[in-house]
This record gives sequence, structure tokens and C-alpha cells, in this order.
Amino acid sequence: MNIIIFGPPGAGKGTQSEFIVKKFNLFKLSTGDLLREEINKKTPLGVKITSIVNSGALVSDEIINKLIENIVSNNNYKNKIIFDGYPRNLPQAENLNKLLLKYDQKIDLVIRLKVSLDIIKKRITGRLICSKCGNTYNEFFNPPEINSSCCKKEFLEKRADDNTDVAVKRFETYEKSTEPVLDYYKKMDLIKDINGETDIESIYSKISHYLTLIEG
Ligand code: AMP
Repeated sequence: MNIIIFGPPGAGKGTQSEFIVKKFNLFKLSTGDLLREEINKKTPLGVKITSIVNSGALVSDEIINKLIENIVSNNNYKNKIIFDGYPRNLPQAENLNKLLLKYDQKIDLVIRLKVSLDIIKKRITGRLICSKCGNTYNEFFNPPEINSSCCKKEFLEKRADDNTDVAVKRFETYEKSTEPVLDYYKKMDLIKDINGETDIESIYSKISHYLTLIEG
């Protein structure tokens, strides 16, 4: 199956994707992660997009669609993808549809996590990422275990765009450009809404229920 995990920045898409990937043996395609990798490695693409990503605006569809085709065309990931942070506007949704048709695939489900701006601000400003294993935490709501063998204090980092001002800008970008994508998938009757303001385990158990139904 291919699924999309949808929701505003800080909704918990990355956290939930990590669980889904492990249990359902899927491949996570996070456009944000791919872009940050380019930025950290200071590749020519990374240098070009650093200020855009750090301002909370969207990177051009041309760049994003190329990254996506590299993965969708790869047979190892066929019908095994969870899209996190993509598509983020209507042209991207249309492009994804075309690509999936080209490679004989489809989207089976769109999980939408609903979270208010107030909660998002707290989640984003507290977010910590382990630079060794990539696990995501929150210093207020979900800190790493004190005796963790990997995610120690010295390895925990904040994202450059995780501050209140940029969080608000990213939320506005989501409302303006990304929410219209929901109508696109509503017409295909693919959306399941989940309250993303409850605890991580309850959200995951709802997602897991829907995915198990698809698996049959
Ligand atoms: P994320 O990790 O999904 O929160 O994305 C972080 C930032 O990367 C966004 O604020 C955008 O600047 C950029 N980005 C990620 N995914 C996309 C996308 N599908 N289209 C355009 N820009 C993106």
C-alpha cells in the first residue's frame, strides 16, 4: 500500500510515520528530510534552498517533483511508500497522481492529523531530533529516556526552522497552499481524519486500525 500522512507542521506526521514504517514495513518519503539532508551536506541544491526552508516558504515544485520521481520509480519501494510532507499544494498532488499512474501504483489512504495552531507552537518549539538515529522527541511532552543508549543530550538537535515565528509562517503556508489538497483527495474518498491532539499511542492505534483494514 501507499499512504499519505497529512497535517500541519508539528502535527506529529514524522513521529507517527516512524511507527508505521516499523510495523507495516513501509518506506518513509519525507520531502522535508530529503531537503534537510541536502542542506546539511551543503550540496549545490542545499545551498540554493537553505534560506527558503528556514523562512517557512515552499521550495519549487520542480525541485520537489524530481526528488519524488527518484523514489516512486524505484522498484524496491513499489507500493510501500508513506508520503510525509508531500504533496503540499495542488500541482504536487496532480504530479503525484501522474507519477503513480506511470509506475502502475496508487494511493490507498490519506491520514489527516488535525491539530490547532496553539498546540503546534508548543510542539514545534520543543521538538528535538537525535542526530545519530533520527528519532524525534519533544522536550516538554515526550523527552528521550534518561538512560537511552543512543539519544543522549549531546546528540539532540533543534531544526533551524523550529521557532515560533517560522512555525506561524509554516502554518499559514499550510492553510493557504496545502489544505486545498484535501479537497483533491476528498473527491477520491481517501481521507480519514484523526484528532492529532491526543497522545502518541492513541493516535497510532487509530492509524494502525485503518492500515490493518487496507492490508485485509
Ligand atoms: P517539513 O519537514 O515537512 O516540515 O518541511 C520543512 C520545510 O521543507 C518546509 O517548510 C518547506 O520549506 C520545505 N518542504 C518540505 N516538503 C516540501 C514540499 N513538498 N514542497 C515544497 N517545500 C517543501
